[in-house]
Amino acid sequence: MRVLVVEDEERFAEGLRGGLEADGFAVDVALDGVDGLWLAQENSYDVIVLDIMLPRLNGYRVCRRLRAGGDWTPILMLTAKEGEWDEVEGLDTGADDYLTKPVPYAVLLAHLRALLRREAHARPAELVAGDLRLDMATRIVTRAGRAVGTTPREAAVLEFLLRRAGEAVSKRAILDHVWGGDFEGDPNIVEVYVRRLRNKVDRPFGRNSLTTVRGHGYRLVPDDP
Ligand code: CA
Repeated sequence: MRVLVVEDEERFAEGLRGGLEADGFAVDVALDGVDGLWLAQENSYDVIVLDIMLPRLNGYRVCRRLRAGGDWTPILMLTAKEGEWDEVEGLDTGADDYLTKPVPYAVLLAHLRALLRREAHARPAELVAGDLRLDMATRIVTRAGRAVGTTPREAAVLEFLLRRAGEAVSKRAILDHVWGGDFEGDPNIVEVYVRRLRNKVDRPFGRNSLTTVRGHGYRLVPDDP
C-alpha cells in the first residue's frame, strides 16, 4: 500500500513516515500543496493524508483539483485545531474523512485502514441512476442501453451529478469540480452544459432526470419510464 503524506510540519510528517513504513506502507512525503498535488498526479497512491493549512496551495484546493481531474484516491484531511475544519467545504471538495491534530498515530492508522477497505466502493466501474449509466473506464454514457455521445467535459459534469445522485448540487460546486476552483470565465457555463446534457440524455428519451433546484443548482434523479 502506497501512501502520500502532504504535511508542512516536517517533524510530524517524518514521524508519520516512520510509523507507516514500520507498518509496511510505502510512503512519500510532500511539504507543500503544489508538490503534493504534483506527486498525487504523477503517481498512483492507495490513500492520501492531506493537511489543510499548507504553503502554496491549501489542502481543500489540492483535493478539489484531484477530484476535478477524476482522481478518487481516498483522502484523509488533517486539521490543525478544532473548528478549523469546515465540514461542508471539506466534503464538498471530495475528502473522505478528517481528523483533528494532534492525532495519535494508532487513531490515524485505524482511519487509513478504514479508508483502504472502502476504496473499492469509491471507484465504481459504472455510475448508475436508473437506466442512465456512465462507464468509468470508457467514459461512454448510455440511456436505456443506447450509447449517447458526449464530450469529455459533458461527461465530467454528468459524472459529478451521478456521484451525488439524489442530492442538490450547487452550480458553484460543479464549476469548482469540473472547471477547477480558479476558473475565471462565465459561471453560467454550467447552465450551458446542463442544457446540452438534457438534450442528450433526457429529452430524446422523454425523461427529466436533470432537475433544477431553484436558486441553487441541480439534482440528478433516476427517471425511468
Ligand atoms: Ca499545516
